[in-house]
Amino acid sequence: MKCDDLLVALCDYFDGDLPGPLCVAVEEHLLGCDACRIVLVNIRQTIRLFRADAAAMPGGVHERLLGAFAGGTRCKSIKSISA
Ligand SMILES: [Zn+2]
Repeated sequence: MKCDDLLVALCDYFDGDLPGPLCVAVEEHLLGCDACRIVLVNIRQTIRLFRADAAAMPGGVHERLLGAFAGGTRCKSIKSISA
């Protein structure tokens, strides 16, 4: 699996929709690729912060993030934040 392939599969990986063999391929790639691991960690942290601290965000930030999440991803995990 290449980095581009991982980025395409990442949404389904997050959502738990990735078929077993592909899931293994993603995890094996993550073990050997710092760049993709950082992307994954950043997305996880963003989701966690957003859920925990939405009320504490400065005015406008929350709305802008909601817009970005809703329009910029097909990830159910990310979209569920704005639901
Ligand atoms: Zn990679």
